[in-house]
Amino acid sequence: MNPIRILQWGLGAMGSGMARLMLEKSGLQIVAAVDNRPDYVGKDLGEVLKVGKNLGVKITNKPEEVLKKEDVDIVVIATTSWLKEQITDLRKIVTAGINCISIAEEMADAYAQNPELASELDKLAKHHGVTVLGTGVNPGFVLDLLVVLLSGGNHQVERIEASRINDLSPYGPTVMQTQGVGSTLEEFNAGLADGSIVGHVGFPESIHMISDALGLGVDRIVQTREPIISKVYRETPHVKVQPGMVAGCAHTGIGYRGDKEVIKLIHPQQIHPELEQQETGDYIHIYGKPEIHMSIKPEIAGGIATEGLAVNMIPHVVAATPGLKRMIDLPVPAALMGESAYTRRI
Ligand code: NAD
Repeated sequence: MNPIRILQWGLGAMGSGMARLMLEKSGLQIVAAVDNRPDYVGKDLGEVLKVGKNLGVKITNKPEEVLKKEDVDIVVIATTSWLKEQITDLRKIVTAGINCISIAEEMADAYAQNPELASELDKLAKHHGVTVLGTGVNPGFVLDLLVVLLSGGNHQVERIEASRINDLSPYGPTVMQTQGVGSTLEEFNAGLADGSIVGHVGFPESIHMISDALGLGVDRIVQTREPIISKVYRETPHVKVQPGMVAGCAHTGIGYRGDKEVIKLIHPQQIHPELEQQETGDYIHIYGKPEIHMSIKPEIAGGIATEGLAVNMIPHVVAATPGLKRMIDLPVPAALMGESAYTRRI
């Protein structure tokens, strides 16, 4: 079995974790790496990943030099959450005739908020005979694909409610800022109004994916974001939260069919939830025939699972028919633990 040759694009918290995981997998080989950080450009990837040896892969900020379909089977890109920011790079990848996995939240179901860009990408991918997938832990797995899979034996589904209660403490300054952690109530409200505080990115994508997969006919999505005001002092390496300040954002997304609420997704994210006796976990409730209640405690670790999903989906994307895909369009993800995991086909 020849290893699948990968270009890793973006070497931040997620991209570098993915690259380290790829190095552990016998069926995968990193052949190129792109990042525009000036302190990374020109360095060997092994030095930046701190794996104790050179890998013979020089990091470049000129993707056109390494986007060669004779040398690369797939690009895994981890640069931004927003499709409008990533589209220029995605066009370059697809036009070069190379498959792609993106962890941009808006790529989990690009049709949800960016239908024109989604259909452009789909056409471009089909024209060049390649596959493009959006994935990640959430959106991409916990509050959408898992929900869809759990409904697989149902005769009827009336309503779905799912929540992910997680701990933001391991994340960096960008996440703290976009979730409003460390802000006062006034700053939180101002941040919501000017768009600098967004809470979770991905509810329209998850709701669209579930509704589409089950045929629930959601025609309207309403989102609300509330500050989680801390009663106690909380601290991470990047932020200090005094009592009375914001420790996170409780974000809810509801999908309606007409006046009926059919999908409700709840995602309170905060630092150190244990300091106020909040247990973390992932919960899925399907009301219908039969009724299903799933709970995973603590929550599936976000960073680890995002890296895992992006890497584990590589063989599926390389083998898939051309076009823009979502997690509901491809074979189920599975950890790459041995040869059959690389050759499994639909
Ligand atoms: P990060 O900020 O740590 O890393 C981003 C890296 O990409 C940086 O090294 C930066 O220099 C590089 N970069 C940015 N734009 C580039 C470009 N155009 N060309 C080359 N390099 C570029 O971010 P992260 O924590 O690694 O996450 C990456 C993105 O993935 C974020 O937007 C995050 O929200 C998203 N994400 C999604 C999920 C999901 O479940 N779908 C999960 C985790 C992260």
